[in-house]
Amino acid sequence: MSANLSYEVFVNDPPPQDGVLPNGEPKRFSPMASTLIYGGEDAVLTDPGMTIDQARALGDWVAAKGRNVTDIFITHGHGDHWFAAGLLADRFDARVVASAGTIAQMHNGVATRPLLWDKLYSGIPPAPVTAVTVPGDRLTLEGHELAIVEVGHSDSDDTSVLHVPDLELVVAGDVIYNGVHMYLGQGFTGFDPWRAAIDRVEALEARHIVAGHQNKRLDDDAERTIAETRRYLDDADELLRTEDTAVDFFNAKIERYPDYLGRLILWVGARGLYAVRENPDGNIAQMVLNAWL
Ligand SMILES: [Zn+2]
Repeated sequence: MSANLSYEVFVNDPPPQDGVLPNGEPKRFSPMASTLIYGGEDAVLTDPGMTIDQARALGDWVAAKGRNVTDIFITHGHGDHWFAAGLLADRFDARVVASAGTIAQMHNGVATRPLLWDKLYSGIPPAPVTAVTVPGDRLTLEGHELAIVEVGHSDSDDTSVLHVPDLELVVAGDVIYNGVHMYLGQGFTGFDPWRAAIDRVEALEARHIVAGHQNKRLDDDAERTIAETRRYLDDADELLRTEDTAVDFFNAKIERYPDYLGRLILWVGARGLYAVRENPDGNIAQMVLNAWL
């Protein structure tokens, strides 16, 4: 008989950042959640964050659990979810794993790093892509199956989630959000692919969802987080019709979601979407990037 599994979530603080948003408040990235799934001896860690400071805070929390970390799973290619993976892999002598699609996107993340992440945040460690795929996209933790499920485009291309049937848990990366503004900036062709990704998560029939960006005071109820993620996209579509500028969109979203964290991401997404809309023949990748700077 294998031991029962458990999981716990660590929510890391965003790194310091310069600049202010249109409403005058300081720019600040979203809180970032990592999940430790563990049995009696071994553990699997997800999405270990971006900076050296975050790696230290997360690593100390993991170390206190007293488990042998075998694998570090990455949900998608955005650097905020994995630039710190190498530090954690070294500290715990663990392997970094991801789907083939996510590994390709991680290479894109490395290419984007000097144009984006290093301009905004200091203290990002060297981050070569060391992730490997696993046969059948399956991991085993003390006899329990952990399935990597590819869900396609959500807040970026080739995203995936980790399904742990024996815990009725999905670690959802940025497919599902929880009390935090969603990154809409790569949705310039519409949000239907993201809605399809949410449908795939819902089909796993989990009771618990860990969102990659979450307000740590909220629970992890699957039904609520899925419904709220869908509603946020529906509201975005409505406001894209009714609001003329990125600032108007930003303000209207805040009015509807006054308690949501991560307004930087709201602003970056709005700026990107409106830039593409106003310059349909322009360089989309450049406009999406400029929205951050
Ligand atoms: Zn993210």
